[in-house]
Amino acid sequence: MRPNSQALKHKLSHDSEREFGGTLGAVCIPVFLPLTVLFLICLSRSPEASLFQWPPPLPSTDQLWDPLAPVLLLGWFALHAVIYLMPLGKVSEGLVLRDGTRLKYPINGFHGLCISGVFLMLLLGLGAPLGYLFELLLPLAVCAIAVSFLFSIYLYIRSFWAPSYALALGGNTGNPLYDFFIGRELNPRIGDFDLKYFCELRPGLIGWVVINLGMLMKEVELRGSPSLAMILVNSFQLLYVADALWNEEAVLTTMDIVHDGFGFMLVFGDLAWVPFTYGLQAAFLVVHPQTLSSLKAAVIIALNGIGYYIFRQSNSQKNQFRRDPTHPSVARLETIATATGKRLLVSGWWGLVRHPNYLGDLLMALAWSLPCGFSHLLPYFYVIYFTVLLIHREARDERQCRAKYGLAWDTYCRRVPYRIFPYIY
Ligand code: NDP
Repeated sequence: MRPNSQALKHKLSHDSEREFGGTLGAVCIPVFLPLTVLFLICLSRSPEASLFQWPPPLPSTDQLWDPLAPVLLLGWFALHAVIYLMPLGKVSEGLVLRDGTRLKYPINGFHGLCISGVFLMLLLGLGAPLGYLFELLLPLAVCAIAVSFLFSIYLYIRSFWAPSYALALGGNTGNPLYDFFIGRELNPRIGDFDLKYFCELRPGLIGWVVINLGMLMKEVELRGSPSLAMILVNSFQLLYVADALWNEEAVLTTMDIVHDGFGFMLVFGDLAWVPFTYGLQAAFLVVHPQTLSSLKAAVIIALNGIGYYIFRQSNSQKNQFRRDPTHPSVARLETIATATGKRLLVSGWWGLVRHPNYLGDLLMALAWSLPCGFSHLLPYFYVIYFTVLLIHREARDERQCRAKYGLAWDTYCRRVPYRIFPYIY
């Protein structure tokens, strides 16, 4: 049954708490973050590569624009839109929406990665200069930023035709700047094509590993073969992306899909921020080659392996528990009841800290930076930024869980006092 729209409208505009610094954040972030992307790319290829370099290395207009960039970018989006629509993989249902319905989603992101891989191998076989992505990085980032703005404007405008039950609870404050930024509509779709779900894991995430491969090929052009550091960065990040796509169904229960509207914050994050800042280490290595001993490489591989193990096991344990709490792999874990009927795990990975999946993710992030050595801070940008992001995300999730589970959440916090790092935080 659909809720009374007037009551809902009132609730939507008055109950929700503003996030990311409210209106000020909504004005500053869309200016500051795109500039940060361009700034970091410029830094990664400057000889000093210092975050504190003054004046900062500014690109010329020639470096910012290449007519090939929009063609490649739009072609890339089109390729993934076609793969999305292909009848590959299974179709899953999302969580129940406020109007009682459930949306259907194609689970074929991993197919998208494999098809992209075959496509790239063909291009390489035909002698395509993939290393040219290094020169194209800035123009591609400029185009991705422009697409993010245009797409977010489209999403904001079309949200006014969406029924009130289809709006995100936090994205309908009536403040246009904030709503544009945070996202009004929860699941904007063109027919069956879900725009948010499509952007969440496909063009940006797969684009990130393609850019990495381009940096590796640039290294081959410059030095004859890829360095061990470059191979490690490429392999670790490919594993991360492949894992996300292999477990694509899990994204249907994440905050991004269930709770957040689709606005500038997610669009820009998915299409510009992830592909152009998460792979900074590879871009850095092209200009700042590093030698890595076998021992150091083994330690870094072990760190990435441990991080991945914690990340995968904890995410899988919770997903399994949420899908089927009677499954033998989770049935013996200790849980506490909540007033909503859902239970919370208090043993296993979720009894170690309240976000073991974030802990694993951060260990991996550190392993991605270490192959770049200790001479520069820039390759550590990701792990530093990611720590801040996950601490902030943990606080947001904590607020939502406290609102959902009340006293039961407080009991969980007493039983499991540390948030991410055991005995530290
Ligand atoms: P989580 O997978 O951490 O899910 C949080 C939800 O889990 C809570 O809202 C609650 O939802 C449920 N939950 C919390 N505690 C318990 C418990 N004890 N027992 C059972 N359920 C519990 O959310 P995220 O979307 O933040 O993270 C998913 C993964 O994505 C993580 O591994 C994270 O590191 C990664 N990530 C990566 C990013 C990147 O840029 N690389 C960005 C963000 C996340 P409910 O009770 O309603 O089920």
